[in-house]
Amino acid sequence: MTNALIFGLTGQDGAYLAKFLLDKGYNVYGTFRRTSHKCFERLEDMKIFDDAISIKADLADQGSIQTAIRQSKPDEIYNLAAQSFVGASFQQPILTSDITGLGVLRILETVKENAPDVKFYQASSSEMYGNYSEIKNENSPFHPRSPYGAAKIFGHNITVHYREAYKIFACSGILFNHESPHRGLEFVTRKISYALARIKFKKQEKLQLGNIHAKRDWGFAGDYVEAMWMMLQQQNPDDYVIATGESHSIEEFLDLASEYAGLGDWHEFVEFDESLNRPTDIEDLVGDSSKAKKQLGWSSKVSFKELVKMMVEYDISNLKSSIDPFDSELRRSIKSN
Ligand code: NDP
Repeated sequence: MTNALIFGLTGQDGAYLAKFLLDKGYNVYGTFRRTSHKCFERLEDMKIFDDAISIKADLADQGSIQTAIRQSKPDEIYNLAAQSFVGASFQQPILTSDITGLGVLRILETVKENAPDVKFYQASSSEMYGNYSEIKNENSPFHPRSPYGAAKIFGHNITVHYREAYKIFACSGILFNHESPHRGLEFVTRKISYALARIKFKKQEKLQLGNIHAKRDWGFAGDYVEAMWMMLQQQNPDDYVIATGESHSIEEFLDLASEYAGLGDWHEFVEFDESLNRPTDIEDLVGDSSKAKKQLGWSSKVSFKELVKMMVEYDISNLKSSIDPFDSELRRSIKSN
């Protein structure tokens, strides 16, 4: 059996990838951080909590990385761990650089010294690109607009360096935004779908948003983890852009989400809060994944509309089932919606 080690098992992609690899018959090991509350909701929700073997490790701590690799004896390592929220990277730039940037090097150094034959995947990001208008491919220049983007560039470059200098099978997947019902609540897509469900059930009145004109190339996380795996099954390591090839604004997401939630005109409950705007932002990001299509045979399957619908429906049904069945006022409001 093939052993996989996922750094960042508890995150959105970690959960989807673990499920994907378990379904393929892998032994799946994954890392989690010590926290004061349980952090396995996604694995439990996907019913794989008992199947993936969890190991405590932190990317700030080289010793725990070594232990995770020693314990799991991996054939493939997927580094999905990161301080992954662009907005937070403006408030915590040093932590972001340490985990999202240097953390990659800590894994690669451990691989070089202890497991040089392992195949390594690095989760790079479209946030490495800047505000150039053209569609981005593997050769487009980087010009980050956040500490997160800058840290990801370090992670990407050091991955390429370890491949070239030490012949490590190291791939960097430059993934554009990918969402799902398991996206973190601070990310704007999930922030919207979750808030709309709460507004529908009268658990909150308003939704505060920043710049809704930013456009992103949004795909479905379940499609994107397959591309990660495909990269490690190739004859030679390489870097690939993974994207849908079309971008949509946050406003478009909001329009559709509001329609699917049956809430009508969102202007009635959305408030704009300037403090949510970032010091620098990227206006529009679109990726060209024709290399991945040609070499990996990968393409995105879930459309933008299907993605929005999936997220809104998940949050509505989740909230509906958690509502106190004896709360008659709420039950009336659900019926009338
Ligand atoms: P999440 O934020 O959902 O997951 C991040 C994971 O990293 C979590 O398991 C988190 O643990 C873990 N983590 C955070 N800090 C540390 C640390 N110090 N040591 C060890 N683990 C840590 O992100 P996604 O799953 O969405 O993304 C996966 C990767 O892909 C990330 O690297 C992200 O930057 C990158 N990426 C994501 C894109 C997207 O649109 N989703 C686009 C492009 C790149 P905990 O649960 O304890 O917080």
